[in-house]
Amino acid sequence: MKNRIFFKLLAAFLIVIAATALTLDAMLGSAWEASLRAQIERDLTQKTLLFAHRVETDRTRSITEITAEEAQAAGARATVIDASGKVLADSESNPATMENHAGRPEFVAALVGRTASSERRSATLGIPFLYVAAPYPGGAVRLAYPLSDLEAVQAQVRRRLLWGSALALLIALLVAAGASILTARRLERIVDVAARIERGDLRARVDDPSLDEIGRVAVAIDRTAGQVERSFAAVRSSQHQLETLLNSMQDAVIAVSSDGLVQWANQPMDRLVPQRTRLNAPVVETIRDPDFLATVKAATTTKQAKTARATSVVPGRAFDVTAAPLPDGGAVAVLRDLTETERVEKTRRDFIANVSHELRTPLTSIQGYAETLLDSTPDNGAHTRDFLEIIRKNAARMARLTEDLLTLARVESGETRFETEPVPPVELLRDAQENFREIARGQGVEFEIIESNGQGGGTLESLPSVMADREAIHQVFSNLIDNAMKYGRAGGRIVLGARPATRGVEFYVQDFGAGISSEHLPRLFERFYRVDKARSRESGGTGLGLAIAKHIMLAHGGSIRAESELGHGSTFLFTLPTA
Ligand code: ADP
Repeated sequence: MKNRIFFKLLAAFLIVIAATALTLDAMLGSAWEASLRAQIERDLTQKTLLFAHRVETDRTRSITEITAEEAQAAGARATVIDASGKVLADSESNPATMENHAGRPEFVAALVGRTASSERRSATLGIPFLYVAAPYPGGAVRLAYPLSDLEAVQAQVRRRLLWGSALALLIALLVAAGASILTARRLERIVDVAARIERGDLRARVDDPSLDEIGRVAVAIDRTAGQVERSFAAVRSSQHQLETLLNSMQDAVIAVSSDGLVQWANQPMDRLVPQRTRLNAPVVETIRDPDFLATVKAATTTKQAKTARATSVVPGRAFDVTAAPLPDGGAVAVLRDLTETERVEKTRRDFIANVSHELRTPLTSIQGYAETLLDSTPDNGAHTRDFLEIIRKNAARMARLTEDLLTLARVESGETRFETEPVPPVELLRDAQENFREIARGQGVEFEIIESNGQGGGTLESLPSVMADREAIHQVFSNLIDNAMKYGRAGGRIVLGARPATRGVEFYVQDFGAGISSEHLPRLFERFYRVDKARSRESGGTGLGLAIAKHIMLAHGGSIRAESELGHGSTFLFTLPTA
């Protein structure tokens, strides 16, 4: 890590240094060279002009002497030619052996009267020369200055730049090392803190106060860690609350993963099973009850809450199991001990049954004696007969009540065994009609069976047989038709019928009377629930008819419900499973 930052920084520095050196070399070097060259040229031009002037005016010396002296003074090679280009004198060669110089570019210009310069490599010496020529009457003079010095200067500049770059590189090396060590140390601290947070140490902080990018990363990490720490504390606290809540519950709670392993269980659950629940062990090791296991599995697979009654979780005790799916698969199951509730419920039922049973005989006796007295009491204007009639009526009502209570208690407790057999629906309907035809006629109520089964011209005969106890269904029909007569007679018409339903055959008893307002519908099947108490009592109702019908339907594996609208009559519908 450290090395990588170091090398990256060094590479960056190297590139900067190289670019600077090259730019300097290209720009400074060439500018410097140009100014030096210009200086040399100016200097040489002056000297050439002086040379020309001397050749023209100095008559005390020969041209050869002047040429030698000027060459010496200028540090350059001096040459004099006549107007035809013939070399008259030269400071370094014998003019007799030298070729005609009229074609040299600087001489070409000088011979027409201009001072000119030219730069080129000497054919004889192989080094670059700067030539400057100036005219004099009768020819031209020329000074040639070797530029090899200039090249030497250039090389020196390059050398210095190279050394400078090397020095800069050394400094860069040190700076890169220092910077990389510093940066790496800060980054390593960040990595270290991140690793601690990953291991769960949420209190770890970088604490880097600097304002650069690394400092900002450190601040961001510190803030994130703080936030995570606070959220984690909140989650832990709410988890703790939940655990306390679940542990203080009476019900046993157990969470099972989708692959059937115990994930969590509250203390009541631990107390329930002798071997205690083991986390991450198959739930079947803790609870072997097949109903419980099936419910949990069903909730897991169908993703819907399921309930069941389990009797072999603990021997001799019954539990109500409710399993609800968990969002990430698996299910949580709540086991409510029903043993005590069921015992109390049974005691209550037994008590009611016993009381009803015990009341039967005295009530029959009261009824009998009241009737006997009625028969033997003359109608002499005194109120004796009226009072006796009231006694008889109330005794009859109480007898009905005890009868209904007894029936309900027996059906509820399962004491009444229903003998179910496949029965064609039409037979159940005809049976009911038979029983009530005369009564209906007596009350002036139209009473009929709808022959169509509501399915494209199908008849009642075409409906499949249902599993039913004829006696019990007869009782259900009786209660419903009796109610229709009592409360719906004003409609003048009662109809019975049946039609196919999703899970069996649906039977219905419809009247066209006053109807029931919607707020009563959900409670209609509770015992003693009456919409209009006085009316019910008046018509001899006990408030138990629908409760009995509901329990008979439950015992058949069917269901019952009511549909009604105030002023538009009521329909009571019950469904029996097909055979
Ligand atoms: P009850 O012995 O009072 O008739 P039920 O359990 O048979 O008791 O009925 C409960 C109540 O439901 C009745 O008191 C009555 O108010 C209402 N009810 C039942 N059937 C009808 C109906 N066909 N039309 C209107 N109200 C009805």
